Amino acid sequence: MLYSDKVMDHFSNPRNVGEIEDADGVGEIGNAKCGDIMKMYLKIDNNIITDAKFKTFGCGAAVATSSMATELIKGKSIDDALKLTNQAVVEALDGLPAVKIHCSVLAEQAVRSALSDYYTKQGIDPIPIVGEIKEPEE
Ligand SMILES: [Zn+2]
Repeated sequence: MLYSDKVMDHFSNPRNVGEIEDADGVGEIGNAKCGDIMKMYLKIDNNIITDAKFKTFGCGAAVATSSMATELIKGKSIDDALKLTNQAVVEALDGLPAVKIHCSVLAEQAVRSALSDYYTKQGIDPIPIVGEIKEPEE
């Protein structure tokens, strides 16, 4: 089996799909290899991510990783969300095939991109906090 049960579960039944209309931060990121486009919406209150939703147009692994990423950051502080790595997303999904690792990078960067937007909206330069947002190269 190429994909773990958890990947199949999050692909068939993704959590937190949708948009947040009055989101505090919105991030969008894509990658050329799969043609995945991920949009991430965050609601932030007192440095806590109170809600997270996503829309992903892409491969099954991109849907599963964005679903898992929203589950991992909901209810967490911004600091914790910034520490979310793509490896943590992959581990939470019981692994991904090597050719799909870049989809988990996309999920990590989508979260960072939304946090970057959050800081920009607060009038704070996001680069020292969030870093540069990089679209995965492969
Ligand atoms: Zn993909």
